[in-house]
Amino acid sequence: MNKQQFIEDDLKYIWRPFTQMKSLEDEKNKPIIIKKGKGIYLYDIDGNKYIDAVSSWWVNTLGHSNKRINKTIYKQAKKIEHVIFAGFTHEPVIEFSKKLVNMMNNSLRHVFFSDNGSTAVEVALKMAYQYQVLKGYPEKKKFIALKNSYHGDTLGAVSVGGIDMYHKLYKPLLFEIRQADSPYCYRCPMNCNKETCNCECLSSVENILKEEAQNIAGIIIEPLVQAAGGMIMYPAKYITKLRCLCDKYNILLIDDEVAMGFYRTGKLFAYEHAGIVPDIICAAKGITAGYMPLSVTVTTDEIYNAFYDEDIDGYKTFYHGHSYTAYPLALAVALENLKILEEMNIEEYLKPKIAKFSKELEKFKAHKNVGDVRQTGMICAIELVKDKNTKEPFSYEDGIGKKIYHEGLKLGAILRPMWNCIYFITPYIITEKKIEKLTDIAYTALNKVLPNEE
Ligand SMILES: *Cc1c(COP(=O)(O)O)cnc(C)c1O
Repeated sequence: MNKQQFIEDDLKYIWRPFTQMKSLEDEKNKPIIIKKGKGIYLYDIDGNKYIDAVSSWWVNTLGHSNKRINKTIYKQAKKIEHVIFAGFTHEPVIEFSKKLVNMMNNSLRHVFFSDNGSTAVEVALKMAYQYQVLKGYPEKKKFIALKNSYHGDTLGAVSVGGIDMYHKLYKPLLFEIRQADSPYCYRCPMNCNKETCNCECLSSVENILKEEAQNIAGIIIEPLVQAAGGMIMYPAKYITKLRCLCDKYNILLIDDEVAMGFYRTGKLFAYEHAGIVPDIICAAKGITAGYMPLSVTVTTDEIYNAFYDEDIDGYKTFYHGHSYTAYPLALAVALENLKILEEMNIEEYLKPKIAKFSKELEKFKAHKNVGDVRQTGMICAIELVKDKNTKEPFSYEDGIGKKIYHEGLKLGAILRPMWNCIYFITPYIITEKKIEKLTDIAYTALNKVLPNEE
């Protein structure tokens, strides 16, 4: 293989996501050609290996090239790769849906399929609005969303997004929402401190509801961690209290578990930490262990039944679907993934790893540019600041994250800091030894870019 030609062709024919294409002219930004993966490692065509510390965009849980998953794909492909999901059904989708609903074991009992996180959110928003119409509240057409939130890149998902860099430009195309404060504990909007926090920042949600609950269909949140917004973490009691507010003001709680679902926080879904049940959940990343695109929007009997009707062509039907709805290959993998996680006894399996990460994070705390170190289950984040006392952030132009990324690559790890936040979202199968190695690499990379001397 002619590597130079490959890279040239890549740049010539492909338009990449989230990338200023001109930046790729710079030698150090040339894409790395990955040839294979095994476990937590990715291998490039030059024989370098990298720890996949971002789980290939937060989707991989069982590591790369898992034998059982690979076999499942092959076996299912020999049976049926895809079939229209109208008038027809198949074993993997039935078995998976039944197993998932039984694992949740609550009022979330109806599973709607699409094939990525953004569309799972679109489905949730349409479902929520239509539910309100069907219940006799057509004026309930706005959603509440939080600052710093990310729910995907299709227009409905962008409407409820709260990251200016990604979302602001498209504002003229979006529907109207109400934005509430972000529960950003390190930079608390109420200036409270963590130890005495009583989720005072929820007042910003309640103020909106007091003003116009009659116009609000629901609120959408990322549970426990606002991930793409900078791994912003907040306590479970925020969600518990939010559930009460939703009931009090008659709005729906839409829980976007796309990043947190399938044990990323240590439990199947993050809402479990809050001891509540949302009205709708969206899930995607992790659902197939990172092997196939698939997503679900799951809802309650209450919502499902509001759509149930005699009139088969009437307005109560949910008019939504995609060509790859309930894609059998993906469903077979999703089912196998649930079986593997069950056999691993995944909640117990993750506990020592979560503890190990927590121990290894300690070494970052004394660094002069580390403002905050935080962790929720298998997600760890280190927020860098110019000044620890004032919490002054680095500006985007400082490019700290990019520099750390390049140092990480040299040291054998794919760290992909978001602006000023180094994070780890690794496959679950990472060993304690490799957790030590990865955090050492990150620490070394950090010190290369921001030496810790006075
Ligand atoms: C990644 C993500 C999405 C979008 O999922 P895609 O599969 O990338 O469309 C939605 N919500 C959250 C919380 C996410 O992290």
